[in-house]
Amino acid sequence: MNNRILAANLARIEKSLKQRTPPAMVKIGQKADPFRILVGCLISARTRDEVTEAACTRLFQRIKDPQGLLELTPRQLEKEIYPVAFYRNKAKALKSLSSDLIERFDGQVPETLEELLTLQGVGRKTANLTLILAFDGMGICVDTHVHRIANRWGYVETATPDQTEAALREKLPKKYWQKINEWLVGFGQTVCKPLSPLCSQCPVDKHCPRIGVDKYR
Ligand code: SF4
Repeated sequence: MNNRILAANLARIEKSLKQRTPPAMVKIGQKADPFRILVGCLISARTRDEVTEAACTRLFQRIKDPQGLLELTPRQLEKEIYPVAFYRNKAKALKSLSSDLIERFDGQVPETLEELLTLQGVGRKTANLTLILAFDGMGICVDTHVHRIANRWGYVETATPDQTEAALREKLPKKYWQKINEWLVGFGQTVCKPLSPLCSQCPVDKHCPRIGVDKYR
């Protein structure tokens, strides 16, 4: 797939998703607290958006910053974020992250991808998403949806999300970097699903080679 067809596909998907709320905690360009964004990204792994939102709302009614989070006991923190998936492990990770921010960054969330990636428990997906949402920075957040769909389209040919991010950094026009996650997550959750995608209802079916798709509806 070349960039002309990719642009057409993304435009169709954006149009079809217009009615949906973006999956991210805040919209791109909207002013937001970087610590809240970072915590939200970490809490959101394998958890539904509405559960993440509710947990973040509860937690940030009680704390404001890394120091406040550290002052909660492990039990209190677990209770605030329950029932997010793996809430016990995530509570531990949030404590480590908060200590790290205080010790190395004076309690502030760093603004570069390189520094974000040095934080305890922060991988490329979270670092890129925080960069985009908290600082309006140039990141590409590649999760399983972006990875899967970019490969089904034949835009990249990669085995892991990290490889997909590297490939996208080489060829994806920069104007799509910040938004591709929002579009393809929404599209991947509703149409181009992991198993048996809804190709008969797909707005981009004419320009999709369906690479690796054995079964579809
Ligand atoms: S045609 Fe099917 S595989 Fe291709 S993007 Fe649409 S839903 Fe996904």
